[in-house]
Amino acid sequence: MDKIIDLERHRTAEGRADVAIIGGGIIGLSIGWKLLQAGKSVAIFERDTIGSGATRAASGMLAANVEVEPAEDDLVPLTLASQELWHGFARELEAESGLTVDYRDHGTMIVALSRDEVDRLRFRQDLLTRLGLTSEWLSGSVAREREPALRPSVSGAIFCKQDHQVDARRVAAALAAVFRKAGGQIFENTPVTSLERSSGRVSGVVTEAGVFSAQTVVLAAGAWSPQLVPGFELPVRPLKGQSLAVRMDKRDPALTHIVWTEQIHMAPKGDGRLIIGASVEERGFDAANTAGGIFALLEAARRVLPSIEELAIDEIWTGFRPTSLDDAPIFGEIGVDGLIVATGHHRNGILLAPVTARAISDLILKGRMDGPETSFTLQRFRKNSDRMTHGL
Ligand SMILES: Cc1cc2nc3c(=O)[nH]c(=O)nc-3n(C[C@H](O)[C@H](O)[C@H](O)COP(=O)(O)OP(=O)(O)OC[C@H]3O[C@@H](n4cnc5c(N)ncnc54)[C@H](O)[C@@H]3O)c2cc1C
Repeated sequence: MDKIIDLERHRTAEGRADVAIIGGGIIGLSIGWKLLQAGKSVAIFERDTIGSGATRAASGMLAANVEVEPAEDDLVPLTLASQELWHGFARELEAESGLTVDYRDHGTMIVALSRDEVDRLRFRQDLLTRLGLTSEWLSGSVAREREPALRPSVSGAIFCKQDHQVDARRVAAALAAVFRKAGGQIFENTPVTSLERSSGRVSGVVTEAGVFSAQTVVLAAGAWSPQLVPGFELPVRPLKGQSLAVRMDKRDPALTHIVWTEQIHMAPKGDGRLIIGASVEERGFDAANTAGGIFALLEAARRVLPSIEELAIDEIWTGFRPTSLDDAPIFGEIGVDGLIVATGHHRNGILLAPVTARAISDLILKGRMDGPETSFTLQRFRKNSDRMTHGL
């Protein structure tokens, strides 16, 4: 075993490809797969193992409707476009890889327990309607008919039937399989330490195992992306999330739909896991699971699903959302030739993977993006800040 690890560590990462991607999360992998399909040669550099960053922490919700927040209207065309792409993306990924991604299309429910919560939920439904999103109001009894394990005091719900889910870890595994099958190179346990520059442009990536040359470098290192462009203000920070999973009876699962409350979401997976998430904490890269964080999740889950008390805890974890100044992703060039960024996906990176792959591959193959993705360049921040205009 030691020998295998040793060999892996000393494997050379020298070489050349059309595109080198920094980061083997869902964003880097999705872009890489799309580019390989278009005939480009692609190498992915991952500091740890594939999918081990925020992708591993995600609940896998494809929630263009229920995730909408007031003042995020601009994001809606992008999230809807990606939600529409997801079904085909999942089908192709499963067919090509021979692996399941656990795409579940039961829809999502937001439930209310008190009169105040019902009022706020009505307000939320008004917001969805104003944005042209469809949702159905359910009485408490209809909500409980659809999810009989909910507490009897659930007195109203919104149902969003288009908000589906996948298992984000399975998606990462399937993407890695199709990427390799299509001839892509993956260098795991290979942190990129800096960008290679020549003739005033980025021309590759530098690792401890060598320099790898590429015509284009894509920076998709999630919350760690700014570390690769020191001196340049890429407005992305880590936003910590704690989550846990309990194990349901697979033959008689406690929940079938994704269920949201004001405090938490619960996402039942095909393998019997029920993911309960997630805290939102400004704590930098502090990876600790705290008693308070886990207690709050469990307390909020028990409030709506009493039978949670009987379920065994399967796992607890932390992840870091790559969060930009306006909670929306950043696509495209950042001021130096040869370098493209794809980061800042915040709480929607799983949902936004197919549209991000389209955006970045369009940029590399056609030299421009189309559709709603054009609104998500770094330019939107530059309007407000001269400090963003520093070169690398
Ligand atoms: C608790 C939680 C729940 C979430 N739930 C959902 C959800 O239900 N639906 C949804 O759409 N989104 C969800 N998200 C958000 C989603 O997980 C992220 O937006 C998405 O995973 C971002 O993907 P990424 O590939 O950009 O980043 P990551 O998955 O973090 O990948 C970046 C990769 O880059 C690697 N890396 C970093 N530095 C270097 C380096 N120097 N060299 C090489 N590699 C490097 C890292 O190791 C990492 O693997 C959730 C996030 C959290 C934390």
